[in-house]
Amino acid sequence: MTSNQTVLIAGGGIGGLALALTLHEIGVDCIVFESVRELRPLGVGINIQPNAVRELEDLGIGEDDMDQVGIPAREWALVGLNGKDIYSEPRGKLAGYHWQQYAVHRGKFHLLLYRKVLERLGADAVKLGHKVTGYRKNADGSVTALVETADGETREFDGALLVGADGIHSAIRAQMHPNQPPIHWGGTIMWRGTARSVPIRTGSSFIGLGTSRHRVVFYPISHPDENGLADINWIAEQTYDADHDWTKSGWFRQVELSEFAREFDSFVYDWFDLPALLAKSEIAYENPMIDRDPIPTWVDGPVVLMGDAAHPMYPTGSNGASQAIMDARAIGVAMLEHGITQEAIAAYNEKSCGPIGQVALRNRGAGPFGLLNLVEDRCGGEFENIDDVIPAAEREAFMMT
Ligand SMILES: Cc1cc2nc3c(=O)[nH]c(=O)nc-3n(C[C@H](O)[C@H](O)[C@H](O)COP(=O)(O)OP(=O)(O)OC[C@H]3O[C@@H](n4cnc5c(N)ncnc54)[C@H](O)[C@@H]3O)c2cc1C
Repeated sequence: MTSNQTVLIAGGGIGGLALALTLHEIGVDCIVFESVRELRPLGVGINIQPNAVRELEDLGIGEDDMDQVGIPAREWALVGLNGKDIYSEPRGKLAGYHWQQYAVHRGKFHLLLYRKVLERLGADAVKLGHKVTGYRKNADGSVTALVETADGETREFDGALLVGADGIHSAIRAQMHPNQPPIHWGGTIMWRGTARSVPIRTGSSFIGLGTSRHRVVFYPISHPDENGLADINWIAEQTYDADHDWTKSGWFRQVELSEFAREFDSFVYDWFDLPALLAKSEIAYENPMIDRDPIPTWVDGPVVLMGDAAHPMYPTGSNGASQAIMDARAIGVAMLEHGITQEAIAAYNEKSCGPIGQVALRNRGAGPFGLLNLVEDRCGGEFENIDDVIPAAEREAFMMT
């Protein structure tokens, strides 16, 4: 048993910072190692589901904070390529939850967590420019994180436990599972960005428009300003055949609109004009929709994985960031029960690894967007009234599966 009770966290993303706040709440010392030298508000829109919003509230991050970085989601809707409604349902408190679902700017939300960590744990708690390259398990049960600094120095840090919260390209996971299969890509490329525009429908509607192979998803991620304009997050998606070379896209490459916008020229309706929205965007990113096959365990002695390092998943269920927050809380609960011990992370692993791996696999399917496939199959996307194609009861039943 080691006398060092510090928890080392590799990665200062949403997952790593939520864990730091959780450990601080229960009186456990931790250090976060983040590879980038400076945290900047990177990324575009993500959703934080009511279960994670509840956990944030328990961490003292309430609606006042969340309203600074996003907006409560009010509706989730599917619209056919012909511009006609297929399905809609309320979200957050309107759907009967005690907590909101928040549509947020990922980068602003990330920096909100970072500010909270600095306020509560102090500036030394997050070591920027510190890349964890691997780990060494010690005879006394402790662990040493092997770190490379941005200045080219090699350093070692000892702790009781090491948490790999270092994202889909996790170095910790690679050491834990040296024979893991390469990144998995199912054929879809996403282009993402934000533009200032007037929110439509409920004022905070998530809209999926098109077919499952060719669609756009868009929703506001800020409250409107005095002119009624909000940041509208858009994700334009195109699915290609398996021989398409996604590796060219890299991970979150900044692109010019001219590289993809013409694929969406036809998305013009009397209530929505996608080309016009794209044209208002200052920045666009391209990223392939990728994940990894589930692994049999997230634990190697005193080392454990969480967030995207443990279960990178397609954004089908808008669940990646929420699940990272839930992991942080589950690790905290396990430590309350078992102390800062290998038993704690083994208990977390036992509870989560199998089931969440299955969630990741299910996200490879169309999920709720599968209704778009059904419309395509039944009428080739041509309909006047969706009730004639898929009766309301069948649509509801589909969403419940
Ligand atoms: C820059 C960026 C932009 C993103 N934008 C979007 C978006 O627009 N929409 C969306 O749905 N999802 C986006 N994501 C993914 C989303 O944030 C995650 O799926 C989710 O929040 C789970 O977070 P995580 O903390 O597990 O992983 P991540 O968010 O990937 O965080 C991992 C963190 O670890 C750091 N890191 C990586 N390797 C090391 C290492 N070896 N040592 C130390 N630190 C390391 C990374 O710099 C990062 O800060 C983005 C992720 C990143 C990193």
